[in-house]
Amino acid sequence: MKPWQVQLQNSYKSLTQVILDYPHLKNKLNPLLEVEKKYPIFIPKRIMNRISKDINGKLAKQFLPQLDELSPNGLYDPIGDLKNSPTNRLVHRYENRVLFFPTSKCPINCRYCFRKNEISSTDKIFSKNDQAIEYLQDHPLINEIIFSGGDPLILTDNQLDAHLESFVKVKHIKQIRFHTRFPTIIPDRIDNDFQLMLSKYLDRFEIIFVIHTNCTEELDDEVKASLSKLSKNYTTLSQSVILKNINDSSESFYNLSKALLELNIRPYYAHFPDDVLGAQHFKISKHKAHQIHSDLRQKISGHSLPVFIFENNSNTSKEYV
Ligand code: SF4
Repeated sequence: MKPWQVQLQNSYKSLTQVILDYPHLKNKLNPLLEVEKKYPIFIPKRIMNRISKDINGKLAKQFLPQLDELSPNGLYDPIGDLKNSPTNRLVHRYENRVLFFPTSKCPINCRYCFRKNEISSTDKIFSKNDQAIEYLQDHPLINEIIFSGGDPLILTDNQLDAHLESFVKVKHIKQIRFHTRFPTIIPDRIDNDFQLMLSKYLDRFEIIFVIHTNCTEELDDEVKASLSKLSKNYTTLSQSVILKNINDSSESFYNLSKALLELNIRPYYAHFPDDVLGAQHFKISKHKAHQIHSDLRQKISGHSLPVFIFENNSNTSKEYV
C-alpha cells in the first residue's frame, strides 16, 4: 500500500477513536456523538493532530461535528444535481461539459459539504463507466469531463488510468478536469506514480486541477509542496466555500488568494454556501458575501479575483459576481 493509502486506512472513523487518542478532548467531543450517528466523521490523522492543537480553530470548525447539524432546516439536494443526472454517474447541466462521479468517497468529511446528505448515506467506488461512455458518444458537443465525487483522487492510479483510457475513445473529449481536496488533506496523494500515470495523457487531453481550500490555515508546508508539484505541471485553479466564522472576511480571502498565487494557483471560484440540510450554521447573508467581494476587488486585480457564485437548486437562479 502507498503512504497515502495507509493514511486513508488509518483515518479516524468515529469520535470514540479520537477520544481514545486525545482523552483531553473527551468533554468537548462527547456531546457530539449524537451528531455523528447522522453525519459520520472521517478525519485523517495528520488533520486530527492539527485540530487537537486548536480545538476551536478553523480546521476543527470544518471537520468536527457540531450540534447545529441536527437542525431540520435546509435541502437534501440543494443544487438539484439529482434531477440533472442522465445516468447515475453523470450530471449534465451545461452544453459542453459533464460532471463525472467515479466515487462517493472523500479523504475527509467536510461538515459544510453540499453533498453531505448523499455522501453520508453512500460509500462507493465505481470501476466501470460503460453507461457514461455511451451517453458521451451520443453527445458530441461535450468536450470536457469534470471528475468529481466524492473526491476522484481516492481512486487508485490504476482505476483512474482505466477511466482516462476509456475517455480517450470518445474523440470529442478534449479536456479532463479533476476537482479534488486531496492536496490539502493528504498531500502525499500527489506522488510520482500518479504524475507518471497522468503524463501518458498529456498529448491527448488538457488536464486541469481545481483544488478545494478555504483558508490559509490549511496550507502547511507539506500541502504547499504538494500544490507546487501540481501547479508546476498542470493548470491549477482553486475553489472555496464562503463559510461563517471561517473565511467570511475580505482579509481571509485576500490572504488565501495571495498564498495561492505564490504557488502559481489561480483563485477560481468562491461559492456562496448552499441551502444544505445539516449545514445551515455555515451560511452568511448574501449582502455580506457581496461586501466581501467588493472589498476584495479593491485589493486584488480582476484576473486573480475568484468569481463569487450564488446558486440554488434551480438552473435559472445561478448568479456570478
Ligand atoms: S471533499 Fe468535497 S465532496 Fe468531499 S466532503 Fe469535502 S467538500 Fe464534500
